[in-house]
Amino acid sequence: MKLLALALATAWFGLTLPPPTPTPAVKVGARPARPGSADVAAELRGDAIKADVATIVGFAHASRAVKEVGSGQMWGRIAGFSSSDKTVEWSLDKFRTAGISDIRTQTISQDAKASLWLPLSWRVTLLGDAAFGEGTSDVVLESALPVGPSNIPGGTLTAPLVYVGSASPAVLQHIDVKGKIAVQLVVPQGHMLFERGAVDSRSEDLVKRGAAGVFNIVRLPGNELSRDFSDCGNPCFNIGGRDGWFLEAVLDRAARAGVQDKLRVKIDLQTQTYRGLKAINGVAVIPGMSQETIVLNAHVDGWFDGAGDNGDGLGVLIALARHFAKPANRPQRTLVFVASAGHHTPGINGPRSFVAANPELAKNAVMFVNIEHVAQRNFSPARTTSADGYREAVADSGEAPIAVGVTNNSPFLQELIDGGPARYGVNFISERSTFQSGETGGWAGLNVAKVSIMQAPPLYHTTGEVLDVISAPGLERIARFLAFFVSAADKAPRERINP
Ligand SMILES: [Zn+2]
Repeated sequence: MKLLALALATAWFGLTLPPPTPTPAVKVGARPARPGSADVAAELRGDAIKADVATIVGFAHASRAVKEVGSGQMWGRIAGFSSSDKTVEWSLDKFRTAGISDIRTQTISQDAKASLWLPLSWRVTLLGDAAFGEGTSDVVLESALPVGPSNIPGGTLTAPLVYVGSASPAVLQHIDVKGKIAVQLVVPQGHMLFERGAVDSRSEDLVKRGAAGVFNIVRLPGNELSRDFSDCGNPCFNIGGRDGWFLEAVLDRAARAGVQDKLRVKIDLQTQTYRGLKAINGVAVIPGMSQETIVLNAHVDGWFDGAGDNGDGLGVLIALARHFAKPANRPQRTLVFVASAGHHTPGINGPRSFVAANPELAKNAVMFVNIEHVAQRNFSPARTTSADGYREAVADSGEAPIAVGVTNNSPFLQELIDGGPARYGVNFISERSTFQSGETGGWAGLNVAKVSIMQAPPLYHTTGEVLDVISAPGLERIARFLAFFVSAADKAPRERINP
């Protein structure tokens, strides 16, 4: 017994192995989020909206349970698959229950030239060797996720590893990556989207220099799978925070012991490319006194649970439909609610398809509002570290910052937004912006104000974005702000919205 204990203590240089089972990326403690208002219309209450977000996340859980994609390692509400359609059908049912009679289900066919790459099953195994300590056995990096459209002819690849840090040219001039898996470190500032340019070009550079593949250690809280970044030409994988922490430590210890050449990884990967997919948009119309329209949109699709991308946005869209369907809140203009098949599946764009299928509603629009990633809690590095030294992340009592873009920079709309934090406690960033998101791009041809409400939280596109990180009071704050904003714009002359 004593001998066995000694052997275990020295395996993998005595390092703590990454956690074997999923643990939450962010600790959400007992202290609740900063409360909402005591006086809120029932349909805009945070707990009611969060109950809908839980149902929306449930469609993603079902996708995993039935193994909608391959082995079930990849899941979500995926446009082109039934998980997305079921979410749209449920949304339409909610619109109908709110008393809206003009309800439309509209089919979208994937563009002929487009395709969706999905990984069906995969495994990344760090191969054990007695040189790393007695009893060192293989370790599976559970957080590894292939970057699209990675592929391995024959389905398996074994190669040595080499650490390249930031993978900048100044570093790479000293490192021979030929025939090896290059391990680069990515420290996202905000969400991964902000790193795409650098990560993609450096990955391509590594392959040009002869790398057999690239691992991106994504230094985020927890040990999450993250679907982001583009392929580098050879197989590329994202590795989660805790696995990456372990892998870096192993690379350091192996270098110090002079056994780095023995460090190897085995990759197994099966993938599929889908073409000719079909999806649906759900549209609900509340008629006003005029033909002019205000279009509100939330995409239903999302990777993994997608509680924040975009379960929260869809929950808020449904709450707003309930609000404006009430006779007391009937609008002047016609309000259009789009539960969109989104933009994650190439060749399926919900807003673009909405415009094509509803030319009158689109042509008469005075404003589009895109509700996307709106109520995740904010979090910070914690004072505590886990057993392997990894610094934990803990939620605070507010929501992550929300960027608001107004494409035409209308002073009237910007002033309404400026008043949001004081009126409703929403955490809008302090700078006015004209940005628009990928979802909003589907309206590119229409020359009216396009408003995007969007958080850029770090867990976006990762398995860490679960229901627990959604703030119920945050849902209420943004729903109340949007009810106010849409109502104010509805009463305003067209020239104030589009000067
Ligand atoms: Zn989104």
